[in-house]
Amino acid sequence: ATPVAIMVGTGKGAEYGILIKSAESLEKAQKTDTIVLDKTGTITEGKPRVTDIFSSKSISDSELLIIAASLEKLSEHPLAEAVLLEAENQKAEILPVKDFQAIPGQGVEGSMNGTKYLAGNHRLINNRGLDFQHFNALADKLADEGKTPLFIANQKEVLGIIAVSDTLKTTSKEAVERFRQMGMDVVMLTGDHAKTAMAMQQQLNISTVIAEVLPQDKDKEITRLQAAGRNVAMVGDGINDAPALMRSDLGIAIGAGTDVAIESADVVLMRSDLLDAVTTIRLSKAVMQNIK
Ligand code: ADP
Ligand code: MG
Repeated sequence: ATPVAIMVGTGKGAEYGILIKSAESLEKAQKTDTIVLDKTGTITEGKPRVTDIFSSKSISDSELLIIAASLEKLSEHPLAEAVLLEAENQKAEILPVKDFQAIPGQGVEGSMNGTKYLAGNHRLINNRGLDFQHFNALADKLADEGKTPLFIANQKEVLGIIAVSDTLKTTSKEAVERFRQMGMDVVMLTGDHAKTAMAMQQQLNISTVIAEVLPQDKDKEITRLQAAGRNVAMVGDGINDAPALMRSDLGIAIGAGTDVAIESADVVLMRSDLLDAVTTIRLSKAVMQNIK
């Protein structure tokens, strides 16, 4: 591409709040055949809310919320924010927590009044050797509704579930449709529950879902796609997306995302709108075709 064409292209992008960091990035975008989308904060608003609270017989709903909120107070995860907002709405007490630990892609743990508690997904519960038979059907039902079930437990048993749900961004569905019309394979990559992800897959008509991926494994999924001959553009917002954005042939960061994601990407979408990712690729094709 000529320098002038590239300048025109990046200038056009800037009009849409699309920050293209280099001439090379604009040239690369046109080769994309597979678009990988992170779920939380990329396809969804990333502002989840608590929708349901179910506690076991040994505890009340409000006690369950107190335990969850006290633990999540020390976490920076979007799910934690949802739990804290609900605690605030219900004026639930926040207890001091000792020995707090965040387990990436799984949840959090800590002690209150000498008892150790956990809040997280089924993987965390499984890893701690706890039985969640009682809550399995309920968790599946919530996930089928597109909600993320959060298990709360002590060291002996699961005490209940708090369900959290995030809303789709208004343009996500249209963006997926446009990518498909351009002949691209659209893949959703998420650490969330497989059933929760599949509910969203159906709503959006996404071809492939890769779920329950640990934060440190997201980039390996990109490598796997590339090994299969794909030219991958990835869109993400989180700290856990940064290595995958770097690994992708083209990394696209959501402008409202974390600094690390923005630094790791070739392109930044200042309006945080997935339709601008469509525009990025269209722009690249237009620029490159004018040159040939
Ligand atoms: P995503 O790819 O959707 O951004 P993450 O890798 O950050 O997801 O988290 C994956 C899953 O790990 C979440 O869906 C949740 O089940 C669990 N998890 C992570 N952090 C927390 C937390 N602070 N509290 C409860 N669960 C958590
Ligand atoms: Mg995210």
